[in-house]
Amino acid sequence: MNRTFTFFLLLIMSAGLFAQNPYPLVTDHYHLELSFDYRNETLQGNCRMTILNQSDSAITQIPLMLYRLMKVNTVKTDDGVDLDFHQAVVQYEDFTKLQVNQILVDYEIPPHASRVIHIDYGGHLLGYTETGMRYKTDRVSPEFTLIRMDTYAYPIISKPVTTFLINNIKTHLFNYDIAVTVPDTLLVANGGRLESKVPVADNQTTWHYSSKKPAWRIDIAIAPYNQLNSEVLDIFYLNDEESANRIAESGTDAMQQYAQWWGELQSPEAVTIIETERNSGGQADELVILLPEESFSNISNFHDLYHELAHLWHVAIRESQGSSPRWEEGLADFSAYLLNETLFEDKAGLLKRAANHNLRRLKGDFERNPTLQNIPLMDYGNQRITNLSYVQPMVMFAVLYYWLGEEVFHHAIGGFYQQYIETSASTKDFTNYWKLMAPAVRLDGFFEDWIYTTRFTEFVMEGKELDEIVSHYSQN
Ligand SMILES: [Zn+2]
Repeated sequence: MNRTFTFFLLLIMSAGLFAQNPYPLVTDHYHLELSFDYRNETLQGNCRMTILNQSDSAITQIPLMLYRLMKVNTVKTDDGVDLDFHQAVVQYEDFTKLQVNQILVDYEIPPHASRVIHIDYGGHLLGYTETGMRYKTDRVSPEFTLIRMDTYAYPIISKPVTTFLINNIKTHLFNYDIAVTVPDTLLVANGGRLESKVPVADNQTTWHYSSKKPAWRIDIAIAPYNQLNSEVLDIFYLNDEESANRIAESGTDAMQQYAQWWGELQSPEAVTIIETERNSGGQADELVILLPEESFSNISNFHDLYHELAHLWHVAIRESQGSSPRWEEGLADFSAYLLNETLFEDKAGLLKRAANHNLRRLKGDFERNPTLQNIPLMDYGNQRITNLSYVQPMVMFAVLYYWLGEEVFHHAIGGFYQQYIETSASTKDFTNYWKLMAPAVRLDGFFEDWIYTTRFTEFVMEGKELDEIVSHYSQN
């Protein structure tokens, strides 16, 4: 999930663009090697990308983007053959303050085949604050270095058009491994699994990480970090040990409560929390949370942490056709509210307030963009409106919780996890599982209303509150 990717969220909401076909070229795997020259404030990178052509026709050119002050030196095939490419610093067509280095690589990829390219590149990284995106302060410095997709610090398949990026971001997850060489005095933080730390020449160490789960972005932060590892959290923090302890404690409490509700995790994966420089923006992918200093030291509620930890109990949802509707985002949000209420007395009533807030938010979205009322939750992935996957299913799970009671609810969530975690499952498997858990209740109609059709929009447009929806189902 990502709450502070505001720039793109704003664009998504203002552009109102839906149902475009995704671009057929996607990255299946990254191998990224990085080193730094702090005196000249440059990075050197070698990036091996495995690129898949998902279309029925051959594609002859790969469009890549890099940070505006970075240059590609060579692009080679897996056999070491040089590929022709053109690079030029260009402005975004629809966001002219934003400049990128656009690289067009001539390489034919047959339909439904994948090809590997090796990109040797390097240069400066000086953020994008001049565009108005003030959190993009990314730079190469011994105090703090941040490498992330937001500034194109590694090559990505894209074109300099914001709508292109919005339509294609997150549509295909990839695995990655990275090898980052830094002075011995610095630590490399990443959300992947630390495979090894190998000393190399000149008092430097190469840190090898590989992704724990498929991801849509790679985040690497380098600083003279301190580390605090608990059973469930790997925390990289800059100075504030007290806050690090508080976060570790809260994360542990959360995990215990979740385990009590849904059973023990089958393969425990620690969540990584990385403190980043002040005002550098927060960000979260599954299993890694970037928290800028001001949030890290002043974490007023643990919602985002609880949301990410809840995902550890979620089965990978794969549909036989089309994209996942990502309802587990709403489930994670629901769980975070419920946990907050459970752990803190002063949070009583939070869950219902949040559900009613989400109902009003849906109504507002539907009024502004009436076509959204014709899209069932099942199609949120296909229609690329997964920003609603945090909102609509959160309400749906709140209805189930208050209607069926906490025992049935946790039994269904925990049982589904224990049964399908090894194999993955579809949304249909999930709704079928619920029907087994509560055979006395007519859940068929409920899931038709909320997942497979748009009948739930009637409650939303009539301005119904959560309690009214719950009593609608308990009386029928
Ligand atoms: Zn999430």
